[in-house]
Amino acid sequence: MVNFALNENKGFNRKLLMIYTGGTLGMVYDATLETLVPFHFEKILDSIPELGRIQAKLHIVAMEPAIDSSNMQPDIWVEIATIIEDHYSSFDGFVILHGTDTMAYTASALSFMFENLDKPVILTGAQLPIGLARTDARENMMTSLELALDPENVLHDVCIYFNGRLLRGNRAKKYESSQFDAFHSENYPYLADVGVYCQFNYPYLRKKPSGAFSVKKSMDSRVLILKLFPGLRLDFLNHIFEQKELKGIIMETFGSGNASTDPLFLELLKAATDEGKIILNISQCSGGEVRQKDYATGKALTEAGVISGKDLTAEAAVTKFMYLSGQNLSVPEIKKQLQTNLRGEMAG
Ligand code: ASP
Repeated sequence: MVNFALNENKGFNRKLLMIYTGGTLGMVYDATLETLVPFHFEKILDSIPELGRIQAKLHIVAMEPAIDSSNMQPDIWVEIATIIEDHYSSFDGFVILHGTDTMAYTASALSFMFENLDKPVILTGAQLPIGLARTDARENMMTSLELALDPENVLHDVCIYFNGRLLRGNRAKKYESSQFDAFHSENYPYLADVGVYCQFNYPYLRKKPSGAFSVKKSMDSRVLILKLFPGLRLDFLNHIFEQKELKGIIMETFGSGNASTDPLFLELLKAATDEGKIILNISQCSGGEVRQKDYATGKALTEAGVISGKDLTAEAAVTKFMYLSGQNLSVPEIKKQLQTNLRGEMAG
């Protein structure tokens, strides 16, 4: 871990903490490997002298090693959460620099791990490395820092800021790998549009919590995401369901939560739920929600013990399961909470 402090003697009262985890934002081209690789964080400071113009003391923690976010793991979420917990009372806001590939997973995981968060935690990154003239890193980083200062005291949430939009982290998805417009939240309005002015979408911001901030660090990864498709072989599925350790299956179904009514498929699901596995139904569609009552195909899932994840993203569903299953709750209690809106992640 490397730490830097900027703007220490400029008389600012407010303090921001920026955590660098890696990602394209801080990558350089390695001519030998002929690919982009993470580089050391001090070079980012050389590239963005504007950091010195933020109206706050700015502390920076660079996690080591910097990673491509495709290598993200729950124990790194715990590390990030612990850094924020350790510095929570002495900073006004937090920015996490993160690769875009798994940013929505990290944002969702942190949203569940943080209970009664009343300060802004903003994840951002870039589609082009900081060293390139056309990089989007500078604007994303500088605006995230300004948002994290939260002068109106309205941000009590884990958010993603990208390309002029502030999104709720556990509603966001990476949609785009080529354009700058990388993140959307199809089922929830943007929290703010940032152009010349920052326009908050006030009715959709989370209310300030009343309880004390705490961090839940136990994440249970005995879960998988299963995407249905026509032709899915039941013998393959059976093999997966036979895994004794597997506790949760996030099942991505068709449309508004529909799946095959093949009796053998439904029997497999029923046998799994009967033995205590939790099957959570989310849709392969980015917009809309699971309604198991609408079609006979959905009703059959309810009869097989499958529960509805309504409009949860896959990222929010899998991290919500990890969080709940890590809390030593009974299976009925996990099922109940999976269907309850805990952090603004799903329709109420
Ligand atoms: N592969 C990179 C990462 O997620 C992509 C990015 O940062 O945009 O770390």
